[in-house]
Amino acid sequence: MKLNRRIVLCCFAAGVAANGAWAGDAAQGNAQAPHWEYAGHHGPAHWGEMHKDFETCGLGKHQSPIDIRTAEKKADLPELAFDYTASPLKIVNNGHTVQINIGDGGGVKIGDHAYKLAQFHFHTPSEERIKGKPADMVAHLVHKDEAGKLAVVAVLIKQGKENAALKAVFENMPVGAGPVHAVEGLNINVANLLPAKRGYYHFEGSLTTPPCSEGVSWYVLSMPVEASAAQIKTFQKLYKHNARPVQPLNDRAVVERAG
Ligand SMILES: [Zn+2]
Repeated sequence: MKLNRRIVLCCFAAGVAANGAWAGDAAQGNAQAPHWEYAGHHGPAHWGEMHKDFETCGLGKHQSPIDIRTAEKKADLPELAFDYTASPLKIVNNGHTVQINIGDGGGVKIGDHAYKLAQFHFHTPSEERIKGKPADMVAHLVHKDEAGKLAVVAVLIKQGKENAALKAVFENMPVGAGPVHAVEGLNINVANLLPAKRGYYHFEGSLTTPPCSEGVSWYVLSMPVEASAAQIKTFQKLYKHNARPVQPLNDRAVVERAG
């Protein structure tokens, strides 16, 4: 199936380019990028052996996601000062998730460190666990600073009432993997996706997809938001399970800001 393979490679490259984490290889049109999945021979247990550039998936000691079992409450952690603005809705099904690319939609200031929102995407169930339990879904809000350092804010999503902020996203999810699709006349403001309280768990980790690069700062909001059973099902029809298993904490500490 030559055609299918071409499509897979195209969309993998598109996915990493949009993520920005592996833009070097994508820009060079790396046709050798292996096809990874969430199960089987190309599943998470094999990512580290699939390609030299994926080695960190197997060897890294600060990998994400994690199960947050204990966290040290600290009073002096900075607040997450979000300043998101409305941005045109651009949505892509990249073969691993549904991702919304943000051109100019503000960002977050953490202490005196400013990050710009680049994209957000979904996993089901949530990759991160709290005391062993995943949420039904999670939205990963991926931010980048001027030097290219990533900070991901995870918004846990549990089944409940319809999520108005994500209505347009769920209604426009591309069914098959393909190029970025701009939804005419619709804007998204990620501020509306945030929960009322902004307390978080913080730790240092990695991308949860190959190449699993480390040096990513994680902020998992403690308060979940809700989405309806129908909305969650809309995503699960496309991706039944796209969560990497939890990784060892090793020498890391998790700290918590109440809120
Ligand atoms: Zn993610």
